[in-house]
Amino acid sequence: MSGDAILTLSDVSISFARGDRTTQAVDRLSFAMARGECLALVGESGSGKSVTALALLGLLPKQGTRISGSARFDGAELLHGGAARVRGRRIAIVFQDPLSALSPYHRVGAQIAESFTIGGVATSDADPKVIAALAAVDLLSPAEVARAFPHQLSGGQRQRVCLAMAMACEPELIILDEPTTALDVTVQLSILDLIARQMRARRMSVLFITHDLGAAASLADRVLVLYGGRRCEWGTSEEVLSAPRHPYTAALLAALPRSDHPSGTPLAAIPGRFDRSSLSGGCAFAPRCAVAEPRCRESRPMAAPSAIRLVDCHLHNDGGGA
Ligand code: SF4
Repeated sequence: MSGDAILTLSDVSISFARGDRTTQAVDRLSFAMARGECLALVGESGSGKSVTALALLGLLPKQGTRISGSARFDGAELLHGGAARVRGRRIAIVFQDPLSALSPYHRVGAQIAESFTIGGVATSDADPKVIAALAAVDLLSPAEVARAFPHQLSGGQRQRVCLAMAMACEPELIILDEPTTALDVTVQLSILDLIARQMRARRMSVLFITHDLGAAASLADRVLVLYGGRRCEWGTSEEVLSAPRHPYTAALLAALPRSDHPSGTPLAAIPGRFDRSSLSGGCAFAPRCAVAEPRCRESRPMAAPSAIRLVDCHLHNDGGGA
């Protein structure tokens, strides 16, 4: 990564203690994002993607949560209390479910105006800036939308409102946490297209959290694949999604339905399921990996930090690829 990294995570670990049980949600995660880049964090449910996003914004519950490592945004530490200084102003987030992200008691215009106010720009709900923000996310009749309550809008309209709120302060970094998962397929495509256009127009950096490899391919410059809170593979979207080197990435891609397969062809499901209790000092994917070796259960694979394309797999790091 060049010196122009906007976000750099180094050895970030996050665990939750409940009674006498500790759950390791993120385990020594390191990556960096360049300014203006879209990086997709990809993985199944439980892979640690959303927990990472919440930690970056200081939104995890304090009680029982242990965080170690470092996450630097434009040089300033975000973890251990630092996120509050930039949350909403320099870093914004869009969540999966727009209905719960919006207040049901306030009109949309008032909620957008509040986002501007957080950024230090005083507005009212009928301010031209509010109407322009709604128009910028392709909402027809933005003045009408500004007067509406969230329950009067469709799911796609609500998610556009959330995007408008997130962009109101012109943040340098937007975190999109599964922003299209709750929407119909056609609406998903139009929202992804909107995000891509806004990213280019505003030169925003985007951390795109998704389990959808197709969405990652359409939006991201680079992709980082997570499994069990650990990094598997990190490279350009084309490298990772066209020529995966980590067995987990390859298995995820093989499990996708393909239009060139005859109908009725069974999908290549990944055997077994993720079981956090089976995480050990070895490779997190070892219990499900078709090419695991004895050493995979004994030592954790970690790519050399200097590698251009990082693949945390013993076979790849032998030099022969996986
Ligand atoms: Fe499979 Fe071993 Fe590579 Fe893990 S380190 S992905 S178990 S081959």
